[in-house]
Amino acid sequence: MIRRFASYYRPYRKLFIIDFSCAVGAGLLELAFPVAVNKFIDDLLPGQDWPLILIACVALLAIYALNTVMQYIVTYWGHMLGINIETDMRKKMFDHIQKLSFRFFDNNKTGHLIGRITNDLNDIGEMAHHGPEDIFIAVMTLVGAFILMADINLKLAIITFVIVPIMAWVIIYFGRNMTTTYRQLFGNVGNFNARIEDNVGGIRVVQSFANEDHEKELFAVDNQMFRRTKLLAYKIMAKSLSVTYMMTRLITVLVMISGAWFFIQGELAIGEFVAFILLSNVFFRPIEKINAVIESYPKGIAGFRRYLEIIDTEPEISDKPDAVDVNALRGDIAFQNVTFGYDQQRPVLKGISLNVKAGETVAFVGPSGAGKTTICSLLPRFYDVTGGAITVDGIDIRDLKLTSLRKQIGIVQQDVFLFSGTIRENIAYGKLDAQLPEIWEAARRAHLEELIQNLPEGMETVIGERGVKLSGGQKQRLAIARMFLKNPPILILDEATSALDTETEAAIQQSLSELSVGRTTLVIAHRLTTIKNADRIIVVNEDGIAEQGRHDELVNAGGIYSRLHQVQFNA
Ligand code: ADP
Ligand code: MG
Repeated sequence: MIRRFASYYRPYRKLFIIDFSCAVGAGLLELAFPVAVNKFIDDLLPGQDWPLILIACVALLAIYALNTVMQYIVTYWGHMLGINIETDMRKKMFDHIQKLSFRFFDNNKTGHLIGRITNDLNDIGEMAHHGPEDIFIAVMTLVGAFILMADINLKLAIITFVIVPIMAWVIIYFGRNMTTTYRQLFGNVGNFNARIEDNVGGIRVVQSFANEDHEKELFAVDNQMFRRTKLLAYKIMAKSLSVTYMMTRLITVLVMISGAWFFIQGELAIGEFVAFILLSNVFFRPIEKINAVIESYPKGIAGFRRYLEIIDTEPEISDKPDAVDVNALRGDIAFQNVTFGYDQQRPVLKGISLNVKAGETVAFVGPSGAGKTTICSLLPRFYDVTGGAITVDGIDIRDLKLTSLRKQIGIVQQDVFLFSGTIRENIAYGKLDAQLPEIWEAARRAHLEELIQNLPEGMETVIGERGVKLSGGQKQRLAIARMFLKNPPILILDEATSALDTETEAAIQQSLSELSVGRTTLVIAHRLTTIKNADRIIVVNEDGIAEQGRHDELVNAGGIYSRLHQVQFNA
């Protein structure tokens, strides 16, 4: 783990070296100060040589000035190093999440992912900046102070040194507890992020059920969990603070007594005694810093571990090394004995075989849960087939580059996902570099032109989060406009009009028919009126494809479809 962490320093080698040298320099000056005091009192004062004393003071001032510059560099450049690393990690995590597959998102809550990218990485920068230099300086200070103290009086130095093993134990013991606690705390933050995400995202449902009290209780539980874990962290901090404080004071008293004894024995001069006490303070400084260390590094470590969990999640679906880029697919689709299940135990598709010619419109009907949406999700490789194969233009879709496959498939679903932005931005999502005239053309073909023209802000109207300021029909039209812009050879319409009233549906149906001209189209619909004109209708049930043919053929065949037809038209 340390090596992986260290690899993030690579782009900032220079920054690291400068910051590290300054930190070490400042640490050395701290060490030199008590020695200077010793010399000042024992050597310079008795001589009563004013010019020499003044020179010493000017030298001291120069050293302080140098230290100021180094402190500035450590504080600003050092933190720059930290924040650069933190930013890199955030970017890497976000980029990686873009690659992860549907199944990952099926199983992970949005709130948790947001927590990992934001909260959990917050302290990484601090750790990246202070970590290496603090450890180095602590060791350097301890060793340096010990040597200088031993130089004054070895026995006294050994007495002081007793604190080191005790403190090493404190760091390891409390540090471990703290890391575990912070891991838990980050989980808690994830939980309430997820809770807030669910609640605010679904606030309209919450309020329409008048279930606010229920939601408050759920949130209160997560909030209390957070409080409890955070308290645990403070408790660990308080304990380690107390142990450290008590130990250092105990040693100080021990040094006073032994120092006094050695002084009386004539083994220690006054200046040496003062210098020793000053040095022991320098010696204790890294030890007293342990508390900050025990707070912030476990946070960083816990966050880094949670970061690695995401980075180490391999995308389930990705490009083969020799995947090919095909920029203009015709749109011949074949399912060859395709089997698939979201989990091993429960197969959803058990051997689907199907050929769709380029430009053909094929409709799927069948009971809810039969696997119609699943069939359509396999084509853009949202999930990979468990058995058999799917080909487009005779090429196994697993041999195609994912982007080249997905750029050529357009999907319009029942619930359209719109981004919180303007109408223009949402239409242009179909083609990011689209120019305004193209966007208007797409809007016109989706029969949105008039609506947009009547809005005071036109194309620049903000449609609210997920398009709440639009009606169902308008959202669907926006999704269609997006498709006109994207202009894919293959189109999937999954219950695109099912949520709409009959009148709106009929109007939108018109746009969809225009959209599907010249494209291979897979339509899923439960209202048979919308698919009557399909080139072929496929009836799917739990066992797979039950019937297929044209509308009239199926009605006359007297099977499932004809019964469905009777229910919908003669009821
Ligand atoms: P249809 O579109 O025909 O109504 P689906 O293809 O959506 O049916 O679903 C087929 C079966 O797969 C259902 O039993 C459903 O519960 C299950 N299913 C659908 N999506 C998922 C998913 N993301 N994870 C696990 N199971 C799923
Ligand atoms: Mg479905």
